[in-house]
Amino acid sequence: MLIAYNEQQQPFLPYQYSREDLQRYRRQMKFYCPQCLQPVQLKIGQYNIPHFAHIADNSCVQLFAEGESQLHLQGKLQLFEWLRKLGHTVKLEPYLPELSQRPDMLVTKKQKQIAIEFQCSSISHEKWLLRTSGYAKNSIQPLWLFQTPQKQSNQGIQKIFISPIMQKVITTSTRGVSYLVTYDAKTSRFIYWTNLLHVHGHTFIGKVQEVPIHKQHFPFYEPKSITKEEFPLYWQLYKKLCKQFVYQRLLHSKKGVQDSFLRSSYELRFALTAMPDYVGVPVKDAEAIQMFSVEWQTILHHFSRRLLLLPHELCDEDIRSFLIQHNVEVTARAVQAIKNYGMVLEKSYQKTDYYPNIREQVYTHLFAIATIY
Ligand SMILES: [Zn+2]
Repeated sequence: MLIAYNEQQQPFLPYQYSREDLQRYRRQMKFYCPQCLQPVQLKIGQYNIPHFAHIADNSCVQLFAEGESQLHLQGKLQLFEWLRKLGHTVKLEPYLPELSQRPDMLVTKKQKQIAIEFQCSSISHEKWLLRTSGYAKNSIQPLWLFQTPQKQSNQGIQKIFISPIMQKVITTSTRGVSYLVTYDAKTSRFIYWTNLLHVHGHTFIGKVQEVPIHKQHFPFYEPKSITKEEFPLYWQLYKKLCKQFVYQRLLHSKKGVQDSFLRSSYELRFALTAMPDYVGVPVKDAEAIQMFSVEWQTILHHFSRRLLLLPHELCDEDIRSFLIQHNVEVTARAVQAIKNYGMVLEKSYQKTDYYPNIREQVYTHLFAIATIY
């Protein structure tokens, strides 16, 4: 922890003093944990960020995340200083007794309170939920800021892996752009993953952008939607992942003719090495269907053909029976995903040449709406 009480019950922040001063204070003063009020010791390493640690093991240690890494302490201080310089009312590690929680920072803005949690280590889903709901019950808005994973450093459009816990903090801008902000305490930069497009599992395609801390505002800058000119790169990456998926699927299929994806492809006369562009199309709400788009869309074309319909001509009842037949949970979002796909196809459909401008339609469906405002 970066803060403790002195004997006068005043908060003491070691980072504001020189190492020489701190060494003197350590001899002269006593420090206490703001929560359990037990004595704590001031730790001053040569390279470390000065901080406090409990002297004896007690239950408070767990609550206070004693094993904080240097990166965590460093990031916390950078963010605290940045908010102070911007003129915000911000408290470092305030103890909230009604919640028994201690966020890294608490910002008060007009009537609103925002708890900032800078997260360097992995956190369990249960712990995340417990803290998030604790804040919500007390009308405090939590802001989870994860340390940027090390694999991610280049800017630009690329494939991104997002862990399940980080997927929980993906937000949508006022203009409908889905994005995630992380903070890299090593380089003092906010790393944005914007215009996130879910592919399957933990794989996304997104545009990586960065904002140095001195250029960042609070609340954070909101990202812009990608342009029509940038979209072909998304499409290319998405199609490459479709191809890899189909290849893997062929290699590992154990069901043979029972495999509805392979059977549908065969009966539709699709070449698995060159699937048509109109299957394997990213659409909104597709996360509700566990299968990869190229798979469920191929099966859907086959299903529609047997009913002598095109996918956009399916009614709700057809869609529901399609989902049930293929063991997909029937939810409003899953139904909507299939309708979205039908809508994109319908807009692109031409009798002579099937779906000639499917890519442009997908761009409009996914991103163009965000730029209209
Ligand atoms: Zn304590």
